[in-house]
Amino acid sequence: MVNLLNYLKEHQQQMEDTLLRLVEAESPSNDKKLVDQCGVVLQKQFEQLISGQVDVIEKDEVGNQYRFTYGTGSEQILILGHYDTVWDQGALPIRKQDGKLYGPGVFDMKGGLTVTLWAMKTLKEAGIVGNRKVVFLVTSDEEIGSHHSHELIKQEAKKSAMVIVPESSISPKGAVKTQRKGIGLFQLQVRGVPVHAGINPWDGASAIDELALQIADFKKLDDREKGISINIGTISGGTRKNVVAAYAEADIDVRFETKEQAEMLEEALLNRPTFNERTTVEMLGGINRYPLERSESVFDLYLQLKEIAASHGYELEEGASGGGSDGNFTAGVGIPTIDGLGPVGDGAHAEHEHVELENLAYRAALIAELIKRNMD
Ligand SMILES: [Zn+2]
Repeated sequence: MVNLLNYLKEHQQQMEDTLLRLVEAESPSNDKKLVDQCGVVLQKQFEQLISGQVDVIEKDEVGNQYRFTYGTGSEQILILGHYDTVWDQGALPIRKQDGKLYGPGVFDMKGGLTVTLWAMKTLKEAGIVGNRKVVFLVTSDEEIGSHHSHELIKQEAKKSAMVIVPESSISPKGAVKTQRKGIGLFQLQVRGVPVHAGINPWDGASAIDELALQIADFKKLDDREKGISINIGTISGGTRKNVVAAYAEADIDVRFETKEQAEMLEEALLNRPTFNERTTVEMLGGINRYPLERSESVFDLYLQLKEIAASHGYELEEGASGGGSDGNFTAGVGIPTIDGLGPVGDGAHAEHEHVELENLAYRAALIAELIKRNMD
């Protein structure tokens, strides 16, 4: 039996090559041409290393998306990644220094794509197959809201026993994510009755006054203990100091930890009472991503990883993230999802974005062994 970690350590240089090729093929989400070029590099890597089935899902507005399959089982394990980045071409130099590779998207999440490809390669070289095939779904629009992929992601998730998301890990020690908050996006629109502020102010109905009452009311749902935050990111309204405001609006970002909270918040926000009956109040929007909850089955995946890590001689920690990922979609349809399996590094979306090269083998081994344990 091949020792998976040793095999990967022996291929350190090739793994670094894979990562460098992917990072050099810059792929800002909104530039289809560049993203597609990176997709071709990704496909070539998969074909050279694993040579399994490739399905290209062509897209008009964003980069093409890929489904790479290893194995032939009737059931499946899904690995979910994205190859677009937040970086415009040339915005961030690529450089290697002190055992780290710096560059656009290296941590979020081309490092994760690299360790996944190598995890699959290792399974193949070791001849490990089971009842479950491995489907590696790579999308191209995660950084701009996943509008062209979330249906596909949910479809693939529903066919899967579990989902592994090699998104960036939690710095500095590479903890995996067993919890991600859900996100709700809302806009409150209030229409009032405009009049002169001096002549007959009480004949009017101020949209701004109503908006203020609304905010004071639903902010009561903000609850630090329970992990619910409600942020009114922008407000606007009114036309002049001496006019009772005809219109006002607010943009609202809501974060929460459980599906139950999501439903409670959506209900409370979409069904607003009106404080001044002469105004009309309309809340638009809704839940954008359901949370990845630390359920028993998620915790079980973490415990398996912790055990594998211990056998490799280190302690793997877990943590929570306030931000969303595509893992929220798969968790939202009820499939056990473990996130943050990308290599140790730091600086997602920041200038110091990097991964620690020596960690690639450990992370790939972690994924390969988790799959091996769950293939039957
Ligand atoms: Zn990402």
